[in-house]
Amino acid sequence: MIINHERGHDMDMKEYIDEAESVLLHTYNRYPVVLDKGDGVYLYDIEGKRYLDFASGIAVFALGYHNKEYGDALKAQIDKLLHTSNYYYNVPAIEAAKKLKEISGMDRIFFTNSGAEAVEGAIKAARKYAYLKDGRTDHEIIAMNHSFHGRTMGALSVTGTPKYREAFEPGIGNIRFAELNDFDSVRSQVTDKTCAILFETVQGEGGIYPATEEFMREVKALCEEKDILLILDEIQCGMGRTGHYYAWQRYGIKPDIMVSAKALGCGVPVGAFLLTEKVGAHSLAAGDHGTTYGGNPFACAAICKVLELFEKNDVLANVGRVGAYLEQRLDQLVQTYDQVKERRGCGLMQGLEFDTPVGPYINAALEKGLILINAGSNIIRFLPALVIGEEQVDEMIGILEACLAQEA
Ligand SMILES: *Cc1c(COP(=O)(O)O)cnc(C)c1O
Repeated sequence: MIINHERGHDMDMKEYIDEAESVLLHTYNRYPVVLDKGDGVYLYDIEGKRYLDFASGIAVFALGYHNKEYGDALKAQIDKLLHTSNYYYNVPAIEAAKKLKEISGMDRIFFTNSGAEAVEGAIKAARKYAYLKDGRTDHEIIAMNHSFHGRTMGALSVTGTPKYREAFEPGIGNIRFAELNDFDSVRSQVTDKTCAILFETVQGEGGIYPATEEFMREVKALCEEKDILLILDEIQCGMGRTGHYYAWQRYGIKPDIMVSAKALGCGVPVGAFLLTEKVGAHSLAAGDHGTTYGGNPFACAAICKVLELFEKNDVLANVGRVGAYLEQRLDQLVQTYDQVKERRGCGLMQGLEFDTPVGPYINAALEKGLILINAGSNIIRFLPALVIGEEQVDEMIGILEACLAQEA
């Protein structure tokens, strides 16, 4: 490849996009932008255009782009040791697990490479827990309609959007679906085979629907009564996004298993499932589960640095402050524009529901240098870096208002 060193790229965006479409499997309808670099809460495409990023790689880049301390820690670990396999111990994994235990209040941690894999592990742990109790192999899991848990077969099987599952049936089986925030719909699906109830503390892809406190309390009580495991998916809503390390921490309950990923690595592909001691001691044992890369020193050095920087920079306090400001500005849009129906969410995980599909607004915003994403056809999702400031919220609102006026 001949590199044009003046621009740093040998082709323009159109040429790269044509090339991409000739070599990559077409599983995404991508926006026509080739991104090149990031700095703070801004991204730049290969032609130098700047974008204010309110998606942060789908809730991944919590610390913003090009964070020097984070980058330096990764570089140092690259020079030291990238990978060992899980036949041996490594210090970053031990440190990362200790820190994660501290912020989550969970007891046992298994590191994975992605969110979907963490969900797979959570499902296996729940099934094994139930199997050790009664020896049966027909246990059921209750998941929620409109949920999203990932694209691997197990995670897909508990994802409550039929169109994602249909062509790939049969799934893992013995999954029942209920409605988030409708306790009776959950209770009516419980049988003597139910081993777990699984949901996102705040539904992300499904349209930014937080679990209500009442629902959370009732489900938790039901789980305790029947020794059913409560599994919370915190892959999108966790890691500080709602102003708590994990969104469930504001409800005064605790899950038996939770899954984390996305911002846990802030760009390095990682995930984890976390268990209470009760489940950890009575589920997956030696030989039951494994991964080649999961928990390797490089990935775990990333987790360690992320958690250290969260603390040092008081990221949760920033989410509390700027999240409240974002809510207020979005509420103003609901009041001002007829086509904007409702705001939902907590902290820096917000959704704005429109009365029509939001595609045209998102495209117009991109044109004006603002990256937004949707959640379902009628909802714009706001998932900025957790280090964002009020002035960037104002900048975003300014561009979005221009789009609302233009597309009205
Ligand atoms: C993104 C996401 C997943 C899947 O994570 P991957 O890393 O893409 O496999 C699962 N659950 C929720 C809530 C998510 O947002």
